[in-house]
Amino acid sequence: MLLTISTAQPPATDLGFLLHKHPARCQSFDLGFGKAHVFYPEASVARCTACLLLDVDPVGMVRGRRPSFQLSQYVNDRPYAASSFLSVAIAQVYGSALQGRCKDRPELASTPIPLEARIDVLPVRGGEEFLRSVFEPLGYNVEASRCPLDERFPEWGESPYFAVTIEKTTTLADLLTHLYVLIPVFDNAKHYWIGADEMEKLITKGEGWLAGHPEKVEITRRYLRFQPSLFREALARLAEDEAPEEAEDGAQPAETVEEILEKPLSLNDQRLGSVLAVLRASGAKRVLDLGCGEGKLIRELMKEKQFDRIVGMDVSVQALQRAVQRLGYERMPPLQRARIELIHGSLMYRDKRLEGFDAAAVVEVVEHLDPPRLSAFERVLFEFAKPPTAVLTTPNREYNVKWESLAAGRLRHPDHRFEWTRQEFWDWANGVAGRFGYKVRFLAVGPEDETVGAPTQMGIFEKS
Ligand code: SAH
Repeated sequence: MLLTISTAQPPATDLGFLLHKHPARCQSFDLGFGKAHVFYPEASVARCTACLLLDVDPVGMVRGRRPSFQLSQYVNDRPYAASSFLSVAIAQVYGSALQGRCKDRPELASTPIPLEARIDVLPVRGGEEFLRSVFEPLGYNVEASRCPLDERFPEWGESPYFAVTIEKTTTLADLLTHLYVLIPVFDNAKHYWIGADEMEKLITKGEGWLAGHPEKVEITRRYLRFQPSLFREALARLAEDEAPEEAEDGAQPAETVEEILEKPLSLNDQRLGSVLAVLRASGAKRVLDLGCGEGKLIRELMKEKQFDRIVGMDVSVQALQRAVQRLGYERMPPLQRARIELIHGSLMYRDKRLEGFDAAAVVEVVEHLDPPRLSAFERVLFEFAKPPTAVLTTPNREYNVKWESLAAGRLRHPDHRFEWTRQEFWDWANGVAGRFGYKVRFLAVGPEDETVGAPTQMGIFEKS
């Protein structure tokens, strides 16, 4: 895929300063999913053009994933159609320019110049009309021509791909920001990197133009299309940017409420720190992270030599894919990668792959299980996997009253099936320990309140 940026503002070779890439050199960058090359087919005082050519490795992308025999994994448009990969490349290869920094000539970055950007193969779901409805309100002149499916066979009709040129007098940072956000929006295909921080990116990168854009809702919906809850939250926050009084009451979904509430306490760090300390002290070498999510604990475990086998399991394939991304699993040196395994599975079913470990962590997972199925989980962990040490954390419901912004009686997360009081947790944990031959002790995590206790409660089970 190819992104071409030109200017005809003399001295046009200033584009080299702006992009932090010398016009006389061809440079290549390894991006994990492929290679990016930057070169200038023309560089004169009158006109300068920089090309960003992205060479995606489609086979490399599927390597290491769960086996699949779908041809579409190997034969698809990803290598040539502009997609979220191009946005990632913009951020990594033109990072300073995207942020409006220009080391040698700072004044250049803030000066609007006539700029033209061309994308040769942009898949546009919604066609030319949508394309224009997105770029034109931002002040761009748009030229678009639809690519035929195959030039040799015009009777086959047209493809969903467009060759698009947009042109405007603006700063390079603005142009790159619009492309960064909008390319995946047109493509409307799966992002490979969606997570809660994507919404932050959208809000930050959309600052000053997205809140007032007539297609704001569609842009946001498509950008976050695999995260409907983030979509609602993003819209609420964009509404705040635009007109604070119009922000919908309660529009903020609870999914991120948990993170927002807990952030000032850096509770997540304290929780991981405590779990890590327990695992370290247990002397465990082979550890399980059950319900590993995006792999936050695994990232910490990886740093410690003590753990020579680390297996993360989750029921959500999406979470595992994010873990692969976030841990940089595909790019790890072979020895590092050999220590780590991510497996797809459910804590509801006995699983031989969980046997033979020294310790298991179950961090903020139990409250996602349906109460009638808790007994299945108990057997899976304590009867069949039976690690000598198991450390389990869960929210302490009593602490919720300390968060004024959490409506009375509400749980911290919409997927929480319950949140236990301390007494409820103690009763459950003591019951389990008694039934399966473990001893259990309890630890409070986070700032402890005299009356309601700490926000997170931890049970440490040791085989007696
Ligand atoms: N331990 C992680 C994630 C906590 S969120 C962390 O602390 O960041 C809860 C996780 O439990 C989610 O990733 C969810 O997919 C997973 N989960 C829920 N039910 C599960 C089940 N039955 N088996 C395995 N994982 C489950």
